[in-house]
Amino acid sequence: MSQPVALITGAASGIGAAVAVAFARKGVRVVGGYLAGGPHDPAYTQRRVEEAGAECLMMPMDVTDSTSVDAIAGAAFDRFGRLDYAIANAGLLRKAPLMEMSDEQWNEMLDVDLTGVMRTFRSASRYMGEGGAMVAISSIAGGVYGWQDHSHYAAAKAGVPGLCRSLAVELAARGIRCNAVIPGLIETPQSLDSKNSLGADGLAKAGKGIPLGRVGRASEVADLVCYLSGSESSYITGQSIIIDGGLTVRWPE
Ligand code: NAD
Repeated sequence: MSQPVALITGAASGIGAAVAVAFARKGVRVVGGYLAGGPHDPAYTQRRVEEAGAECLMMPMDVTDSTSVDAIAGAAFDRFGRLDYAIANAGLLRKAPLMEMSDEQWNEMLDVDLTGVMRTFRSASRYMGEGGAMVAISSIAGGVYGWQDHSHYAAAKAGVPGLCRSLAVELAARGIRCNAVIPGLIETPQSLDSKNSLGADGLAKAGKGIPLGRVGRASEVADLVCYLSGSESSYITGQSIIIDGGLTVRWPE
């Protein structure tokens, strides 16, 4: 049997790049989507996946464009003859206090962070056979907590577990499982952005308040995504798993 194939959106940076490498180490071939014109170099992921011994196809795509999402799922199938895993990781984070939020800002956020997940899974489902798995990246912002000045992000991320629960039921007859991952604070380009997120100093400070004493690594989230995709989690579907170093279970001080 040929090696399985994973489609990962937002694969040129952060958690997406780490997921690509983690899959490669398990012998999974990678099709990575990246946003053209974005700040991240897809060659970085390509090189690391190939160094880990797996084939890799990196393709420009935009999760707000259904045609482009269909195209990458179709390209994955054309190139490798199968599609086993779909990882909806691409995401946008912007700061927008409610009184200043435009309809455009709200709609863009929902379009990328929630509808983009649906588009990724919809296109992948057209090429996946019997079996396989889908994993979406939610956030403790919305998935657990509220986050001031980020209500559009939290609303989108809160929608992700509901989408996954429903698809878990809908796709179960095909043997396709669907789960969400809810990361806490993970050091990536997104969280290092001091304008829209915590930035390096904010992360360092926040890490001290996390029970495990630090923020998370992208590779740690990637390991969970791989676990939820593989046969080790064959009876887990429709779940949302928090990975946050204990942040959301600590006693408030
Ligand atoms: P990141 O900014 O490195 O990754 C996000 C990726 O999505 C980028 O490569 C970006 O180019 C891509 N992207 C953005 N808009 C896109 C679009 N329209 N089409 C295709 N790709 C697009 O940051 P990250 O932290 O690795 O983010 C990965 C996911 O994890 C996101 O969904 C994010 O919201 C989520 N998340 C991150 C954290 C954290 O602390 N870093 C916490 C919780 C959830």
